[in-house]
Amino acid sequence: MAQVVILGEYCKSCGLCLSVCPKQVLQISDKSNQKGYYPVEVVRAEQCIGCTLCGLMCPDLAIEIIRT
Ligand code: SF4
Ligand code: SF4
Repeated sequence: MAQVVILGEYCKSCGLCLSVCPKQVLQISDKSNQKGYYPVEVVRAEQCIGCTLCGLMCPDLAIEIIRT
């Protein structure tokens, strides 16, 4: 099991993490952060396999994966 944590204020909505997630755990939120970007949010937490691809791909270090 793993928990994905999005640091929404760091996210720039580039979508790279979405493109590599094999389980479609993430999507772009409809609420903007303080910089005006629409950050990623976790929508299928139970599907996460903890592969860490999203965190490795993020250029802004906006994703943390906690293995539980
Ligand atoms: S750790 Fe893997 S399965 Fe989980 S959200 Fe990231 S890319 Fe998707
Ligand atoms: S890769 Fe990082 S900056 Fe890009 S959408 Fe995902 S969390 Fe946001």
